[in-house]
Amino acid sequence: MDFTYASVRAAAATIAGHLPPTPMWSYPVLNATVGATVLVKHENTHPVGAFKARGALNLLSTATSGTVTYSTGNHAQSMAWASHLFGLPCTVVMPAGANPAKAAAVRAWGAEVVLAGANLGEAESHAVELAERTGQRLVSPGDTPELLAGVGTIYQEILTARPDLSAIVVPVGSGTGAAAAAVVAHELAPGCEIIAVQSASSSAGHDSWRTGAPCTRPNHTRVEGLATGRGYELPQQILRKHLADFVLVSDDRITEAQRLLATAAHTLAEGAGAAALAAVLDDPDRFAGRTVAVVCTGGNASTSELAALQPAGPS
Ligand SMILES: *Cc1c(COP(=O)(O)O)cnc(C)c1O
Repeated sequence: MDFTYASVRAAAATIAGHLPPTPMWSYPVLNATVGATVLVKHENTHPVGAFKARGALNLLSTATSGTVTYSTGNHAQSMAWASHLFGLPCTVVMPAGANPAKAAAVRAWGAEVVLAGANLGEAESHAVELAERTGQRLVSPGDTPELLAGVGTIYQEILTARPDLSAIVVPVGSGTGAAAAAVVAHELAPGCEIIAVQSASSSAGHDSWRTGAPCTRPNHTRVEGLATGRGYELPQQILRKHLADFVLVSDDRITEAQRLLATAAHTLAEGAGAAALAAVLDDPDRFAGRTVAVVCTGGNASTSELAALQPAGPS
């Protein structure tokens, strides 16, 4: 397994035929609230509402047969969407208790959903068996170089437009986005810090990076895109080499950032999509006066997330 900057350049050419570059805007009210110049990269504007569309598109653009994968959310939708685009079969294994709305969104792109296992780990085991039995390619959401190359195009767009940025903050689940960011920044803007952020309630990626080896950790965050119980080998290997820092924020801080994006940046973010801004809110001294990009990785907020955005009224 390897992943290089050259593969990001190639992915950019592949993706250009199917996805326009996403907008990146700065909002005066947001900047005043935060005390920094914040550029929001709008990955919530993809047809599946999340940045993972880029990775799936890049992976499947050269595929000639179907894939099997496992996911509870945006990876599943992205694989289903890109498979639909290229006319390829796609099977997604989801835990038996998966959100029915998410399963329906995956089926709507024509993919087959198999409900199996009590959690994502068990769904993964089932997907491994299914791939072996059917001879289809098993796609790991974290350890697949083509996915990293695809999502790396976000950072190619950001740093080509703004090579002067002092930092980019990237939310982490499996770490594909942050790892790709670190490699692209190393090439295009070595002075730009890549800062990864995860929920303190699901810290496997963070702890894997701090300890220097992929580990498993309790996985209790309510923020779906960040709910990972283990570190993934390929992203971790890259993060160890090139990442500037990795921070943790509370789920409540993430909800606060979601509210701020809604009120000051005209943006509906899901929790994971607001985590980068949460890291900036969490450490104002670190970011004061700087120009930083936060990646709004997705906008697929569930109905319970939407309800939680309403602050408690006066009692
Ligand atoms: C998957 C996802 C993440 C985490 O990305 P990784 O590449 O798995 O670290 C963050 N935000 C959203 C919206 C996601 O769907």
